[in-house]
Amino acid sequence: MQEPLVSDTNPEESISAWGWPSAREWCVIIIGLVICLGVYVTASHNRLQMQQLNQVKALISQATDAATGAALTIRLKNQSPYANQLTADFIEQSQNALTLVLNEQARQSLPQGFGLPSQQQALQHAHQLTNRLLGLLAISSADATADFSHIEQALFELEQQLNDIQRQVEFELSKQFNSFHSLQLALAAILLLVTAAIVMLLRRTDTATRANRYNLERSETSAKRAADQLQHVIDGAELGFYDWDYQSGNVRVNDHWLRSLNLPSSEQDMSIDLFMARVHPDDVQQLQTALQQCLESGQGYDLEYRMQHSKGHWVWFEGSGKAVEMSSEQPQTAARICGTLKDINQRKKAELEYRENERRFRQLIESLPTVAVQGYNKDRDVIYWNDASRHLYGYSKQEALGKKLEQLIIPEPMRDTVIELHHNWVSQGVEIPAAELQLLHKDGHLVPVFSSHVMLKQDSDSPEMFCVDVDLSEQHRAAAELKRLATRDLLTNLPNRRFLEEELVRRLAEASRFAQQLAVLFIDLDLFKEVNDSMGHNAGDHLLQQVAERIKGHLRHYDTLSRFGGDEFIIILPNISGRHEVQAVADKVMAEFERTYRLQQQEVYVTASIGMSIYPDDGKTSVELLKYADAAMYQAKDSGRNQYRFFAASINEQLKRQLNIATYLRQSLERDDFYLVYQPEISVFDHQIFACEALLRWKPEQPDEGAPPSEFIAVAERSDLIIRIGHWVIRSVCRQLAKWRSQGFSTLRVDLNIAAKQLQQPNFFNLLHEALDEYRLHPADIGIELTESAMMNADSKVINELALLGKAGMEITIDDYGSGYCSLNNLKQFPISCLKVDPLLITRALAQADEKAILQAIAQVAAQLQLRLVAEGVETEAQAELCRQLGFNTALGYLYFQPMEAPKLSQLLTPAN
Ligand code: C2E
Ligand code: CA
Ligand code: CA
Repeated sequence: MQEPLVSDTNPEESISAWGWPSAREWCVIIIGLVICLGVYVTASHNRLQMQQLNQVKALISQATDAATGAALTIRLKNQSPYANQLTADFIEQSQNALTLVLNEQARQSLPQGFGLPSQQQALQHAHQLTNRLLGLLAISSADATADFSHIEQALFELEQQLNDIQRQVEFELSKQFNSFHSLQLALAAILLLVTAAIVMLLRRTDTATRANRYNLERSETSAKRAADQLQHVIDGAELGFYDWDYQSGNVRVNDHWLRSLNLPSSEQDMSIDLFMARVHPDDVQQLQTALQQCLESGQGYDLEYRMQHSKGHWVWFEGSGKAVEMSSEQPQTAARICGTLKDINQRKKAELEYRENERRFRQLIESLPTVAVQGYNKDRDVIYWNDASRHLYGYSKQEALGKKLEQLIIPEPMRDTVIELHHNWVSQGVEIPAAELQLLHKDGHLVPVFSSHVMLKQDSDSPEMFCVDVDLSEQHRAAAELKRLATRDLLTNLPNRRFLEEELVRRLAEASRFAQQLAVLFIDLDLFKEVNDSMGHNAGDHLLQQVAERIKGHLRHYDTLSRFGGDEFIIILPNISGRHEVQAVADKVMAEFERTYRLQQQEVYVTASIGMSIYPDDGKTSVELLKYADAAMYQAKDSGRNQYRFFAASINEQLKRQLNIATYLRQSLERDDFYLVYQPEISVFDHQIFACEALLRWKPEQPDEGAPPSEFIAVAERSDLIIRIGHWVIRSVCRQLAKWRSQGFSTLRVDLNIAAKQLQQPNFFNLLHEALDEYRLHPADIGIELTESAMMNADSKVINELALLGKAGMEITIDDYGSGYCSLNNLKQFPISCLKVDPLLITRALAQADEKAILQAIAQVAAQLQLRLVAEGVETEAQAELCRQLGFNTALGYLYFQPMEAPKLSQLLTPAN
């Protein structure tokens, strides 16, 4: 650390106004004292004059006293012989005093103002009076009888005269004293004050001058020190440096600067003219001005200018300069300027490139017809507005330029936020993220845009924000339409499933808030698929539209009716008072299914099953309520369709049971807990075993986990388990059949039940063929049974495959025929060879004549189509008889055989089978 060259104490503070006086102050003080002395001398002179006047006053008093004494003694003339003498002495005394005064007056040593003619006359008169009195006394002393009254009269007159004179002297004296004394005092006081003022003034000026000089010295020294330190720093900081001595005109530069311009070290010292000659002609002027200012005022400068490289090109520098030494001759003028030069060529190049990019950017955005671009300065005034912005926001360029961003296109509620965001970007560099916004059009409507933003010249004093807005009006219109479409069912124009699920959530929130009850009704048309398949899709669509219309008619405006899926409708009944209200709605809906629907000029009866769940009793969430309503609906279906059911705990139990069954089934698949039983199909005529039907049985490890086929197969069919189980059945049947073949039962055919889901599997036929091939079986060795709906839902590919199998000799049967909607007419479209009639039809045919007619019709058509007719579930002889009558070929039923396991069946078979 260097010792400070100048004390840091400021003289202005350290030299107080009461310190030891300077030489100049001394002069002023002495002059002041001399003047005071002069005044004092004058005052002394006046005092002398007053002393003389006092003497006069004393003499006159003496004369007066003497006259008074004479007047008293003259009255003693009768008592004392010396009275005359005494009077004469007194008068003589008075005369002497007056003579002295007159002499003084004659010498003119009395002060001015005393000695007016009247006073002189009075004095002379008094003096004459004394002379006359002395004469009179001399005469009277000689005559003892003489009358002294005229002497007394004269003495009285003298006394009066002297008293007058005395008063005049006293008056004069007081006048002299007052005037002279007060004048002198005033003068002395003024002098003292003036002197003090001058002293103070001088002292102040002196202090200031000394402070200035101190500061000057100090700044010169610190400038020197700064220059030294700067040089030090510069040498280390890779900066160019110059040192210009104004007096000599010499500029000294450092090595780094020489290197920057590739100049030889011989140019370390150069003239200022040479230095300036290296500066770019466009920059010379400003550098000169800056240097000039620096010289004249010592003011520093910062500039960017170019200097010429030895190879001719220009190098950009950031230069700064500062006076480091002040002229000793001319105050406030620099004698030496030092400065640095930082090579900023790279930065300048980048800047130029940036400007070029910016120019191109502007050109680009100008040419975009649909992308609205607006530019704003740091105060958010519009500085740029392209034509697309005019189209988007309605303001012309002229209208927009100079206006504030928030006054133009920012809606009121967003204004403060936008201003803050812009401010944060400008001041802290926090970018405004691109976003979808609704901005204001000139005519007041909102324009949806996707707005992205870019800040140009961010590091400068004048950053510019550009907003690039893409009009989203079209997309928004499309999105709104899409949303409408997404929440509507186009066929019935009812809200769709998606809307319903959202609506239910909203309604539940409302119900929870207001402690209300709410009901969900799950409506499923019975056998809709069959209607659809038998009458065509148009008829099906038309039916759904009519159902929707009719149900809607029974609802309150705040109830929601939606089409949930194919033939499923859901009603939300918010704010209900209890079950009775829900039941009333269900009754009305059911009533709509008691009337016929007109489809393709036909009056058709359609029924529906409804399941209902209630908030909050049955469930709290939309998922629960829908699930329970669905479960209740299934219950209604299972109970024979065309009815409604409230969700009950028992249904939940059943759901749980089904869930458990599905779980156990899955485990059983791993463990192979299944087996097959076979029910013989016999000829109705000779009771010979013609074929058999394979029926699946489940025997889990834990017996209580099991379930009868009607139950577990339904569960498996609802899930995809049936696909794996079905595959197991196919392979097991084939294996068993191969075994029977090997045992010599060469003709026995086994029929398999195939679920609709299996048929829909793309690899179903492959798997079937694989199994047949594996066990060296022929398609004619097995038969497959399909339900009516599985057949009707089969696509052309499946139909073709079935046809191929049929041609190859495989028996293809419609199982439970008559329980669905497959009209006899449709039968000829299917590649089938056999009809297995639903047992219910046979039972009914026995009971009712018209039902028998139906069965007869079926039998006739089957005969016409050359379909084998099979009866199943035959339990009585009567049924068997009817079957024979109607032309059934074969039958199954407890009347003949119960389903049995393979070994048992083997015993029944004769090798010919
Ligand atoms: P299904 O195809 O109609 O099978 C005939 C059903 O009637 C069998 O019931 C059988 O045991 C029963 N049955 C036979 N004769 C009589 C009778 O005289 N009176 C009565 N009341 N019933 C009789 P099961 O074995 O309980 O099978 C029920 C249903 O499960 C079957 O009806 C079939 O649809 C399905 N099923 C059975 N095994 C399979 C299979 O391996 N795969 C598929 N997908 N379904 C199967
Ligand atoms: Ca069957
Ligand atoms: Ca059947």
